[in-house]
Amino acid sequence: METITPNAQDIECAIRTIIRAIGEDPDREGLEGTPERIVRMFKEIYRGYDEEQKPKITTFVNDAHSSDMICDSGEFYSMCEHHMMPFFGEYHFAYIPSPTGRILGISKVARVVGYCAARLQLQERLGHDIVNMLSEALNGEALGFAIVLRGKHMCKSMRGVKNNGPMCTAYFTGKFKEDAQLRNEFLLLMNNK
Ligand SMILES: [Zn+2]
Repeated sequence: METITPNAQDIECAIRTIIRAIGEDPDREGLEGTPERIVRMFKEIYRGYDEEQKPKITTFVNDAHSSDMICDSGEFYSMCEHHMMPFFGEYHFAYIPSPTGRILGISKVARVVGYCAARLQLQERLGHDIVNMLSEALNGEALGFAIVLRGKHMCKSMRGVKNNGPMCTAYFTGKFKEDAQLRNEFLLLMNNK
């Protein structure tokens, strides 16, 4: 992926133009510092384009030679690429390590979720990006991945259809794709967390 360095001046100038175009005065007191604040905010919420901020994913030898399911849940915050509005919610992740391979430092899952979400995204693609990055960190040796994302999209609740229901996406690979019983076990754990 191409690394971009956000040009602060370009962003400030563009935000001033937008503020003026919607009928506001970019120089009034309350809005004076807004373009600069947005520049700082973009550095954070779009850090997923910056290779330098890519999380280092710690892995460990699978000493126990385990091939049990390992799960992690948490939150995500992202921006939809169609409207540049937030979508956010919860993720449920699981994988089956290779008994002869490595396992993930579990706190790294949340870091990867945060990094992949910090781009203009689609919820469907976000799940794929997360799994790809974690799979790569395990040298492609893990036996399967599962991720379910449940997100509220501001572009659906604030505008258009104005409906607040969450959108659910699921992505399964390897054993989770092949084995319906394993998949059900994951979904059961996920719903009882
Ligand atoms: Zn949208």
